Amino acid sequence: MDLRSSNLNLLRDQEFDVLVVGAGINGAVSAASLAARGARVALIDRADFGGLTSANSSNLAWGGIKYLENYEFLLVNQLCRSRNQLMRAYPSTVREIRFFTTIARGFRVWSFFIYLGALLYWLIGRCNTRPPVYKTARVLEQQEPVVNTEQAAGGLEYSDCYLHDNDARFVFRFIRKALDYGCVATNYVECVASDYQQDSWCCRVRDVISGEDFSVRARVMINACGPYADNLNQQAGITTRHQHLFSKGIHLIVDRVTDNKRVLTFFASDGRLFFLIPMGPKTCIGTTDNQVQDPAVGVTDEDRDFVLDNVNALLDLDPPLKRSDVIAERCGVRPLAVRRGSSERADWVKLSRKHEIDVDEDQPSISIFGGKLTDCLNVGEEICDIVSEQGIDLPHRDKRWYGEPSASTRKEFMHQAMLMELDNMTDPSSSEPLSERFWRRYESSAFELLERIREDRSQARLVIENAEYTRCEIELAARQEMIVKLEDFLRRRSKIELVVRRQDILHAPGLREACEILFGDDADMRYQEYAYSCS
Ligand SMILES: Cc1cc2nc3c(=O)[nH]c(=O)nc-3n(C[C@H](O)[C@H](O)[C@H](O)COP(=O)(O)OP(=O)(O)OC[C@H]3O[C@@H](n4cnc5c(N)ncnc54)[C@H](O)[C@@H]3O)c2cc1C
Repeated sequence: MDLRSSNLNLLRDQEFDVLVVGAGINGAVSAASLAARGARVALIDRADFGGLTSANSSNLAWGGIKYLENYEFLLVNQLCRSRNQLMRAYPSTVREIRFFTTIARGFRVWSFFIYLGALLYWLIGRCNTRPPVYKTARVLEQQEPVVNTEQAAGGLEYSDCYLHDNDARFVFRFIRKALDYGCVATNYVECVASDYQQDSWCCRVRDVISGEDFSVRARVMINACGPYADNLNQQAGITTRHQHLFSKGIHLIVDRVTDNKRVLTFFASDGRLFFLIPMGPKTCIGTTDNQVQDPAVGVTDEDRDFVLDNVNALLDLDPPLKRSDVIAERCGVRPLAVRRGSSERADWVKLSRKHEIDVDEDQPSISIFGGKLTDCLNVGEEICDIVSEQGIDLPHRDKRWYGEPSASTRKEFMHQAMLMELDNMTDPSSSEPLSERFWRRYESSAFELLERIREDRSQARLVIENAEYTRCEIELAARQEMIVKLEDFLRRRSKIELVVRRQDILHAPGLREACEILFGDDADMRYQEYAYSCS
């Protein structure tokens, strides 16, 4: 029986301490922290893990330099602290990167003043990164010739962090951690109704894959539905102090615009920060910031043109980028927490990105509003505090629930990899040695990959052209990563679909073989399902 089927059975059979609904970053850290500390936890998501907002971010773990303009010093302080904590906990994934910023002449703030802001930001960040450096327009031009400096007054370089793989893979780390600590997690299970009676929640859920309905029982429910949190609360009759407003943001992915591995930063025509972020062999450009009423959004031609027009104005590209150069798109809404019924709605652009956690004491439930990927460790800690206040025993209260394995475990892995000359088996098309990639993606499970390659060296062979995945990795993913649909693998566990065009993926030699490893007898059905979604 596979992991998902086994967890579906457990969901039906047990009564849980906590049911977490929604497996974006907030649900994932809630489940991981509570499970590690000894609570009996169930986690469900109606789609794939980390598949909604948490798969459509800018992939930055950052202190939010732009919030300084709104004088949100406390938020920036908290985000910088969280970023530093993530850097220490995930040294192979959360990496420092330089932001190369150009300020146009006549911009609302003098360029040297922005440099002073970056200096303050660096100090708030406890000088944990390399310091900012002021750049004249001439230096900008020399160091990054692709930047159009015709209108540049000056600029600066400062540091923040990015997620090396992608946001959804980052979320999956916490899902995997939760599973390791005994959490019963399943994707493609929707909460359709919830009722609090006789001291426990009885939630009606639907297995979206089979269509089967059943009940899950738990003492406390955590609503981590992101943009759909208000819907779940309304359905369950839960009252909260906060609610969500939505700001839509898109990114376009195109061929790499510069070989320098740094983020290019500008102020777009609407005056807001705009990034060109390295994404493997490509560049990810964005984002937009538009208020919408409905969280179900898609990229429009107007969005595409806004991004492309800005890039073409800010860079010297010959020829300029056009719609047909776009390889992949990302789109989501930022769920922004506001006080229910407050007047903040009028000034929504300046709304805080801070998360809020509301508790309904009468029907023990916890709702998470707003927030950032960067702040995820704090959310996990706060949830543990609130859940124990609700009377749930956490016998292992001090257990650390996040972070890569110890440096000595990494050293041992690298030593074994070196002795078997693993890196010599790296395919020439790969961007990094196998040992680094294996460790970053799989942590301690990477030892299993070494064993498979010792048994059979062909396991180190790449399966899909242009995708950095060896056969043994796909076998491991099939066992450990609850991949239900081909898109789960191509877009979220990996970033293949973000850097290779869908039509090229479909015709890539090796895709069928990958489907066979991932889905066994269902390989053809899952391949056809994906092909249909691409048409
Ligand atoms: C354009 C953009 C750029 C961003 N950039 C950054 C950045 O660079 N750095 C950063 O730190 N943050 C960034 N953010 C913010 C960050 O992405 C979000 O705050 C975060 O992902 C929200 O996570 P979440 O878990 O609350 O929601 P989500 O990730 O949306 O998860 C909610 C989950 O609930 C599930 N769900 C909903 N209803 C049900 C139901 N009835 N039953 C079961 N499951 C249900 C959904 O399927 C979904 O998976 C960005 C956001 C956007 C939109």
